[in-house]
Amino acid sequence: MRFSHSLISTLKESPKDAVLASHKYLIRGGFISAVAAGIYDLLPLGKRVQEKIRAIVKDELDSAGCQEVSLGFVTPAELWQESGRYQRYGKELLRFTDRKDGEFVLSPTNEEAMVNLVRGRVNSYKQLPLNLYQINTKFRDEARARFGLMRGREFLMKDGYSFHATHDDMLREFNLMEKTYKQIFTRLGLDFRVVEADSGAIGGSGSKEFMALSDAGEDTLVVCDRCEYGANIEAAMRQKQSYEFARLAFDGEIHTPHAKTIDEVSAFLNLPKTQIVKAVIKKALFDNGEKICLFFVRGSDELEVTKAQNSVGANELIEAQPQELERLGIIAGFVGIGFAHDDILSVIDSELRGETAVITGANRSDFHTAIGVPDDAKFADLIAVQAGDRCPKCGGVLSHRSGIEVGHIFQLGEKYSKPLNATFLDENGKTKPFVMGTYGIGVSRLIAAAIEQNHDEKGCIWSAAIAPYAVDLIVGNQKEEAQKLLADDLYSHLLHEKLETIYDDRAVGFGVKMNDYELIGFPFALIVGKNASDGKVEIAVRASGERALVESAQAVKWISDRLKEIR
Ligand code: ATP
Ligand code: MG
Repeated sequence: MRFSHSLISTLKESPKDAVLASHKYLIRGGFISAVAAGIYDLLPLGKRVQEKIRAIVKDELDSAGCQEVSLGFVTPAELWQESGRYQRYGKELLRFTDRKDGEFVLSPTNEEAMVNLVRGRVNSYKQLPLNLYQINTKFRDEARARFGLMRGREFLMKDGYSFHATHDDMLREFNLMEKTYKQIFTRLGLDFRVVEADSGAIGGSGSKEFMALSDAGEDTLVVCDRCEYGANIEAAMRQKQSYEFARLAFDGEIHTPHAKTIDEVSAFLNLPKTQIVKAVIKKALFDNGEKICLFFVRGSDELEVTKAQNSVGANELIEAQPQELERLGIIAGFVGIGFAHDDILSVIDSELRGETAVITGANRSDFHTAIGVPDDAKFADLIAVQAGDRCPKCGGVLSHRSGIEVGHIFQLGEKYSKPLNATFLDENGKTKPFVMGTYGIGVSRLIAAAIEQNHDEKGCIWSAAIAPYAVDLIVGNQKEEAQKLLADDLYSHLLHEKLETIYDDRAVGFGVKMNDYELIGFPFALIVGKNASDGKVEIAVRASGERALVESAQAVKWISDRLKEIR
């Protein structure tokens, strides 16, 4: 492709709202163009990168026996009502009506539609297993669409769904998908980690996320310094911590004037924070109503909101208003275990089970009390694992990392097949709902993730596998006939060798061309400059910054050999 004829418009200025390198460089390099909040056009460069990622995803999935389909971007609301998700999904689901008052949604994910495709068409265990996927546009009306392609409202996702006769067979496929995803992310050149993820209401260890490690990531991961253990903080566990407390100098209630926070109570009573119980108050939203919840954790711990949400089976936890607390008789700062009210749910962190003398609010102003944690309370794992905690698998030291979620695999079971009545006949002629798995990859997000992991202060650094073009052929001075002729010759040669090349034949200064080369981040620049008259050209390697002066007759081979090495 000749640069002079291409739609590549690089910019000097970054968009004002851009904080991430990927967002800045995608806009400045002319990969994408903003249309509306969270909605972008892909320009030719962006489209080429996305297509390469798409091709790798497809290649690996097809090799693993998956079949590609394409479901409608618009899905009838009816299907979402059948699964019960129409109401529950919240505002991210864009609902609309057509001219005949038919209700529809823009697909944010396609469990319902895929189950609908399979039910009726697959009737016997003999037709199973089946793994169907698509790579197409999704829409989620994200409250905080930001960071360019990282969190769009409209984005490209690969979503796959597998159908099985048994749970064991679904597990086999789940493991196969984990292996396949690892191959995909390795081919994409990413530094990633597979971590245990929150499985929501389904629970269990049935869900894994693939995290591209990056400070730009919005997810916090907990990783072990000794073994393979890794988990999203929403699902991370730690070895239970036990404490020996000294005998308390008081029994029952104690006056703690103005001591509301854990720090204040700990200082006032001269007791460790681990012995004081903190109440975190939230409002839980359910399908049919809302409730105030009290979550109790040690003063030294923090509440993990997703764990808390799962513990009460809520759709969401939000902050409660002071008036709501007042109405229920909750005195912030002094509410404790034992506060009972029909309209309140209480959950205590599992690590507090069995404690015989901890300090908790006395449920009246300026008083705390020493109690034993009641055995018949509701317990759940509620805490956010902290750096320095011990690994649940091997006892190693845990630390936090940031990651970008680029993939998610999930053991669904019968969650959708049951309500949608999608069944088959098993070996004994018995009707059963399909056992399912679901597998997602954020294809457009991967473009941003790749840049986050590979860039410098000048621009992107693409790996050979997903670079928009492998070679940027640059003519130093377009007016020098010798340079132009040699570059034309090299261009033919590069094309003949099937090396994807952008030929920068623009009538602009050499500096401009080099800046664009670095900003866009092509793996190689082949520079035809002053040495052209001696039959020599220069090759620049974007990733290492290496420069080599080579005979022009050797240049194409030099690059193609190098490309083979990186691949
Ligand atoms: P997140 O926690 O980042 O919002 P999610 O858990 O809601 O993601 P899934 O429903 O698991 O996402 O979707 C599958 C994949 O699609 C994710 O792993 C992610 O890579 C990608 N993805 C999800 N939401 C977006 C978005 N708004 N923009 C771009 N990619 C997205
Ligand atoms: Mg997810």
